Amino acid sequence: MSNATTPVVGHWIDGARSASTSGRTAPVHNPATGEVIREVALANETEIAAAIASAQQGYETWSAMSMARRQAVIFKFRELLNNKKTELAAIVTEEHGKVLSDAMGEIARGQEVVELATGFPHLIKGGFSENVSTGIDVYTLKQPLGVVGVISPFNFPVMVPMWFFPIAIAAGNAVILKPSEKDPSAAIWMAELWKEAGLPDGVFTVLNGDKQAVDGLLNAPEVQSISFVGSTPIAQYIYETAAKNGKRVQALGGAKNHMLVLPDADLDLVADQAINAGYGAAGERCMALSVVLAVEPVADELIEKIKERIGNLVVGNGATGADGTTREPDLGPLITAEHRAKVSNYVDIAEADGGRIVIDGRDLKVDGHEDGFFFGPTLIDNLSTESRAYTEEIFGPVLQVIRVKSFEEGVELINSGQFGNGTAIFTNDGGAARRFQHEIHVGMVGINVPIPVPVAYHSFGGWKSSLFGDAKAYGVQGFDFFTREKAITSRWLDPAKHGGINLGFPQND
Ligand code: NAD
Repeated sequence: MSNATTPVVGHWIDGARSASTSGRTAPVHNPATGEVIREVALANETEIAAAIASAQQGYETWSAMSMARRQAVIFKFRELLNNKKTELAAIVTEEHGKVLSDAMGEIARGQEVVELATGFPHLIKGGFSENVSTGIDVYTLKQPLGVVGVISPFNFPVMVPMWFFPIAIAAGNAVILKPSEKDPSAAIWMAELWKEAGLPDGVFTVLNGDKQAVDGLLNAPEVQSISFVGSTPIAQYIYETAAKNGKRVQALGGAKNHMLVLPDADLDLVADQAINAGYGAAGERCMALSVVLAVEPVADELIEKIKERIGNLVVGNGATGADGTTREPDLGPLITAEHRAKVSNYVDIAEADGGRIVIDGRDLKVDGHEDGFFFGPTLIDNLSTESRAYTEEIFGPVLQVIRVKSFEEGVELINSGQFGNGTAIFTNDGGAARRFQHEIHVGMVGINVPIPVPVAYHSFGGWKSSLFGDAKAYGVQGFDFFTREKAITSRWLDPAKHGGINLGFPQND
């Protein structure tokens, strides 16, 4: 329960913390204890307008600065982040619940994009064609869009915003970040870091809030683009609304990721990787593994191996281990009590639909943390592919094993799903792996790699209802998304050779 002394996380507007005046807040929990540790401000129209006005100003200043000066600020941000990242990891663990080493991993993957962004001058260079027609040159410029919106989910409060804002800022834009209201403090910490790095006020704004803040950004004509990551129904709404309002939009949605295991695979390696990818971050990753598709006859043996490994997993407070003397748990709690109930309900559905619950995490309690939102690693066998527990995203530590007769049946099942975020094949057969990468309708594919999140210089994004829009996150596509190209056709007249009057459509000669 919160009380009058519960601190409130406000906004970051005009280069400073900004207390909310809306009178609306939402609770922020420590999921390991169940306590409300903070409230987060939910922006109203006045605050949304103030954020946009400041960002507009920030854009004017920042886009006029030389690339060399902008680059120095990004290098400084990277250096400060690298020096202080343990502070940030502690914030992530406190509000999200993931274990500290995993929070550090999230920051490392975000930092990769900051590092890519330090090289932005090379990535936003235009092109030049000399003498395309007699005396005429054509060249292209890549200019920033202006004020851009980033709306992020709870599960990666650092990494997902970093998929977008380093590149957007490097390219000369001003960013308004609307973090998840479930873990908003990391965004304010990053804003302070930008200030310390020398970013002009208004170039990075944090607007906390709910649907009202999101709709405010979607409907504001000053906001040129929206980068969204979250669940599929909201991603679709964001895509449609932003596009209707004439904005550039990339909206990444949910997932249901499958691992296809061929009978020739090393089953110990597969079991290890299934555990890591299925239960890491308590399954609250869009690239988490949800389904192991075992090509028979390996399912029984694989289930035994996974079961054995689950027995060694420790579930607990993710902050444990910070002192370096106690053992860090393998997975922490889920984000909220509501989400815990939702995950539990999916296991009920699986059971009702005839699935065999091999390991049941529904009743797990962690000693000393009885009010935490913990859910134990759960393993389900023989679930019908008609069950909602199979077709829908669960987003918890629940792994399903589905038995298939052949490679083809596995590929067909993966391709028939609504999502297309990530997938993996485990095999020693190079030909089968090559066929898999060609035939599978999924945006990111692992070959003996369970969570194939591309590095910063390749782009991240799924297919089908895992991504609405034309541009993936980061990589070259990120730079293309956050710039618009202008083509210039130029003639400097040679007074001796000008062509006189000609009313025809320009032709090259
Ligand atoms: P969510 O869709 O509930 O929320 C995402 C953002 O949208 C938040 O900032 C939230 O405030 C806002 N929002 C929520 N409801 C809204 C509404 N009705 N109108 C406008 N805005 C609204 O998602 P979540 O629960 O925070 O995150 C988990 C989901 O994100 C999972 O589905 C997961 O797969 C997905 N995800 C996808 C990727 C990816 O790369 N594809 C990455 C991370 C998470």
